Formats: sequence, C-alpha cells, structure tokens
Amino acid sequence: RIKERGKNNYQFFSDVMNEDAVQNLQLERELRKALERDEFILHYQPQVNVVTGQITGMEALIRWQHPVRGLLSPIHFIPLAEETGLIVPIGEWVLRKACQDGCRWSKLGRLPMRIAVNLSLIQFQEETLVQNIQSILDETGLEPRFLELEITESIAMHNVEQVVAKLEQLVKLGVQISIDDFGTGFSSLSYLKKFPIHKLKIDRSFITDITSDPDDASIVSAIIAMANSLKLNLIVEGVETEDQQFYLHRLGCFEMQGYLFSRPLPVSLLDQLLEQWV
Ligand code: C2E
Ligand code: MG
Ligand code: MG
Ligand code: MG
Repeated sequence: RIKERGKNNYQFFSDVMNEDAVQNLQLERELRKALERDEFILHYQPQVNVVTGQITGMEALIRWQHPVRGLLSPIHFIPLAEETGLIVPIGEWVLRKACQDGCRWSKLGRLPMRIAVNLSLIQFQEETLVQNIQSILDETGLEPRFLELEITESIAMHNVEQVVAKLEQLVKLGVQISIDDFGTGFSSLSYLKKFPIHKLKIDRSFITDITSDPDDASIVSAIIAMANSLKLNLIVEGVETEDQQFYLHRLGCFEMQGYLFSRPLPVSLLDQLLEQWV
C-alpha cells in the first residue's frame, strides 16, 4: 500500500514538475523577447537618512510589464534570467536605464543622491563588466560617485583574488560597492577585510521582529558595531514601522530603506515625492 501511495505521490509530483517545466519554457521564450519589446521598467525605492531626513539614495528595482500577466515582480523572473544567462543583457539594460534616470535627476537638481543597482553574481563574473559600466557612465554622463553597485555575499564564495581584482577595478571607476542582504550569506566574514567595499546593507529578515526578538536585536547590534569599527557605511532594509525605526536609530543605525518611508515607485511618482520631500 505504502509503495503504491508512494508511486502516486511520485506521479503527482512529476506532473507538477512537468507543468512547471512547461510554464518555465514559455516564460523563458517571453523573457527572451521582453528586452526588444521594451517590457521592463524600473521602480525606485528611496533610502533615507533618518537624522537629517534627507533622501540619500534610490534603489533601482526591476519589474516586468508582462502583456498578459501584468506587472511581474523580480522574484518571478530574475532566477530564470540567471539560469539562462539573460540576466547579462537585462542587467545591462538596468544599469543604463538607472544611470539615465540618475543623470536626469542630477539635471533637475535632485542629486547628490546615489542610484543603487543590483548586480547578480553572473553579471559580476562577466569578463566585460567593468568596460560596460565605464561605457554606460560615459554614455549617460552620470558621475560615477553617484552609482552604487549592490552585490551579495555569494561573491565571497568564489576565487578571492579574482573578486578582489574586479572590485578594485570597479572602485577605480569611482563607483560605490555595497553588500546586499548582509547576514544571510553563510560566508566567512574574512572577506570584509579583503574586499574593497563601502557599505553593508543589513537584510530585512533581521528587521521584521527586531523590536520583539532579542536574537535579531543582538545580531543587528553586532553588525552595526562591526561596520563602525571597519569604517563601513551601513543601511538597513525592510523598515516598515516607526517602532522599528526608533529601535534601529537607538542601536546606532541612521540610514534606512523600507515601506515606512516609501514603497518602490515608478519615476513619475518619485518625481512627485521628491517635489514634496523636505
Ligand atoms: P533586494 O535587492 O534585497 O531588494 C529589496 C526588496 O525588498 C525589494 O523587493 C523591495 O521592494 C523589498 N522591500 C523594500 N522595503 C520593504 C519593506 O519594508 N518590507 C518588505 N516586505 N519588503 C520591502 P523586489 O523589488 O521584489 O526585489 C526582490 C529582489 O529581486 C531584490 O532584492 C533583488 O535581489 C532582485 N532584483 C530586483 N531588481 C533587480 C535587478 O535589476 N537586477 C538583479 N540582478 N536583481 C534584482
Ligand atoms: Mg538590493
Ligand atoms: Mg536586499
Ligand atoms: Mg533581499
């Protein structure tokens, strides 16, 4: 009996798998066309210094305006884009668009404000990454110091010398480097002293329960202390409530990003927000 059930389960499981596989194939075909069809858009989420009240940065977050399925979140297509290598041209589009938008804000007198762009590991490993970023900066006219690249700790799992060399080339361009989702990477912390980075971005998972969970509070305190002594800038993401804001402020964290301040917004709405923000 058990064997039979096991087999049925297996059958069920494999049907689901097949359905997934078919859906993924369809999605992949559409993803390949999405760039030429101009279906991607960038939303931006403000990063706020809670002491001065100023917006210090904007994180560019991609969305896919799918003709049938509507506005798709990156969690629904970035993994597939990474698997298929499509993340390279998509990522390049993101960089160019973000730099163009940054340059536009600069002309409107909205900078100094950094534009943060997420880089996936596969993009980071591309031979031509540094060159590409250099040409995008030249082409768009954005000052390099206003561009921030968010990478994850996963880069620390790879050939350290190569990663250091690449990061140094990027830093030489004049851009800023931050470590996204910090604290979730399970990597040795020794990379923090080897890599030329500017900023840690504490992952949202430590913030959700920070006011009630002493373990989360301890972890965040420890990261803040470490960032301070390593002279790294620090930001927390996923701040949703005033309680969390005050708590983090008291712990010594002053730069924040989260729904409390603003959701990620399209450029037109951000222009309005920047207009009203003082
Ligand atoms: P991430 O880089 O860690 O971005 C932060 C995510 O947290 C965003 O989700 C943002 O909307 C969300 N978020 C911000 N504040 C809050 C909050 O207060 N509460 C909650 N619950 N969530 C908040 P989003 O836009 O869905 O992006 C998800 C992930 O997709 C990003 O995580 C990033 O890893 C990836 N991603 C987004 N855009 C790009 C891109 O252009 N290139 C690459 N390679 N990855 C991207
Ligand atoms: Mg990010
Ligand atoms: Mg993050
Ligand atoms: Mg995240």
